[in-house]
Parts: sequence; structure tokens; C-alpha cells
Amino acid sequence: MMFETNDDGGGGRPDSSESSNRRGMGASLPPSSAARRFLLAVALLLGLVVASRAHAYETPLRLNEVARAYTLGVGEVRCASAAEWQADPYSSFRWGYTNVRADYTVLPPLICEGALNVADDDVPAWQRALGTLVLVHEAFHLRHWRFRRDEGKVECQAIVYFTDAAQKLGANEAEADNLYPYALAWHRWQTQRFSWYRDRTCVIPPWIPPVP
Ligand SMILES: [Zn+2]
Repeated sequence: MMFETNDDGGGGRPDSSESSNRRGMGASLPPSSAARRFLLAVALLLGLVVASRAHAYETPLRLNEVARAYTLGVGEVRCASAAEWQADPYSSFRWGYTNVRADYTVLPPLICEGALNVADDDVPAWQRALGTLVLVHEAFHLRHWRFRRDEGKVECQAIVYFTDAAQKLGANEAEADNLYPYALAWHRWQTQRFSWYRDRTCVIPPWIPPVP
């Protein structure tokens, strides 16, 4: 999932005439008192937002290193705390989201826990698979390529690179292959339910059952 935000953080905008004046004349004119009050309010609001969010999320090294293989070095992967995720207005994107304008991804605790424990049998297999798949999906939103805003193309890359990513996260080849059916099942569920995740040209790698 991805979205774009305005850089003003949604704190409102000056009226259009004032806005166009400022654009037209640059910074040479002092702002009117109304504009100054507005700017002060925005600064205070942003300050409060930054203060309330400081250190609330983590940026696990392993997740960022693995993501960078697909983002080609762009952006940051953040693991929200449970409280932060609950308070996040975008947590309706249940499994995580990427702000493609500001180049960061936010993942909920369940997804980070899955991706960080990809070879740990104590964590449910579906959670490890989902954590891996979502991490790669969001990484392809972060990457500056022509299809970064195309959910179908991004999701296709996520499933194509799934086993590669699982191994980069610490699973061996057999463990990655064991998780792949969960990823395929999730991919199928998602593409059937939400048409915009479909890419008819996607070549999905087959799961090959291990033959003893
Ligand atoms: Zn997406």
C-alpha cells in the first residue's frame, strides 16, 4: 500500500490569494500578521507532532539492509510501536504503508516481528511469510522506478523476490521454500479481493514441492 502526503502535514493552507502572492513575490515581502500567525501555528503543530513521535518507532538494521537491496538505497523502513501504530491515521492500511513522497515505510509490529524472525519456528509461519512479503512490497514502493505507484507491478515484484528476500532476512533455502506457499496464498487472496493488486503480465515463480 502506498500514499502521498503534502509536505505541510495537513495543517491547513493560507487562502489562495495570499498563497499566490507569496509564490509570485518570493520572500522579499514580510508576511502579514495573519500569515505569521498561521506559520507559527504550523510550526507549533509540526513541533508537537515531531516531539510526540520522537523515538516512537525503530529502524531495525536488518530490515533496512534487506530493503535496500530492492530500493537501491532509497528511503527508510520504520517499525512502529504498538501504541504508535494504533494512533497512526494510516494504520487503516492494515499491513503497512509507504509515503512515496517522503520516502519512508511504516510497518506494524506484527509485520516487523514476522520479518525479523523469518527462521524462528516459534513465530507462526504465515506471520513470517507475510512480514517478508510486505517488506519487499513496500521496498518496491520506495524504489525510484517507473512503476513505484502501481500496486500490481509492486506486488508482482514482491512475490517474485519473496524467497530471495526470506534468505536475505536469515532463512536458509529450505526454510524460504517452506514459507513460499503462505506468500502465494496471501498474494492470491489479495489479488482476488482487490483488483488493483493484479498484474496480468506477472510471471509468478512456481512452488516446487521438496521431493525426498
Ligand atoms: Zn502497495
